Amino acid sequence: MRIDLHIHTAPLSTCSYIDPHELVQEARRLKLDGICLTEHQVLWDPAEVDKLASEGGIQIFRGNEFTTNQGDILVFGFYEDIKELMIIQELRAKVQNAGGYMIAAHPFRGFKTFGIGQLQMTVEQAARRKVFEYVDAVEVGNGKLSDEENDMARKVAEKLDLPGTGGSDAHRVDEIATRVTVFEKDIRDEEELVAEFHAGRFRAEDG
Ligand SMILES: [Zn+2]
Ligand SMILES: [Zn+2]
Repeated sequence: MRIDLHIHTAPLSTCSYIDPHELVQEARRLKLDGICLTEHQVLWDPAEVDKLASEGGIQIFRGNEFTTNQGDILVFGFYEDIKELMIIQELRAKVQNAGGYMIAAHPFRGFKTFGIGQLQMTVEQAARRKVFEYVDAVEVGNGKLSDEENDMARKVAEKLDLPGTGGSDAHRVDEIATRVTVFEKDIRDEEELVAEFHAGRFRAEDG
């Protein structure tokens, strides 16, 4: 199953221009099997997701993108409604308690502009970032990042033996499915999605 794991829609993500109905149409046109709605610390109402899914053709799953003191984290299988900035250790404890799954989103976004790139950060140094101690996987393909930024994430994930995911991080309709995650099995609901994450039966791919 080809799933875009990282999508923002309007109005729940104020930074997004994607109308959820257009999203479903476009995802179908792009032959995605599924999409994940990962707004910024806003969870979709399950009834609204069902309504949207009834437009047909693709599976729709809920995730959540948390802002933590160690960067953004995509979270699945955890449904507590939290609005404030999270300390990563606290988020980790809560999500583990719920049996959920955590992915470091775009971990090296902007690493060139921060000047670290010029200092020739090695993969070893990059892998020492605290965030990687508290996640199950690393987003190694983010549609909004440069190849260089994604490459660093991929090398770090390999070094740490963490699985890699892909998602578009789309905020506009034409950005959907630029990166995806391919799952080995068919997934029918969020419970199965989380189970497949934990089983590691997936890989990141270009869209
Ligand atoms: Zn983010
Ligand atoms: Zn995002």
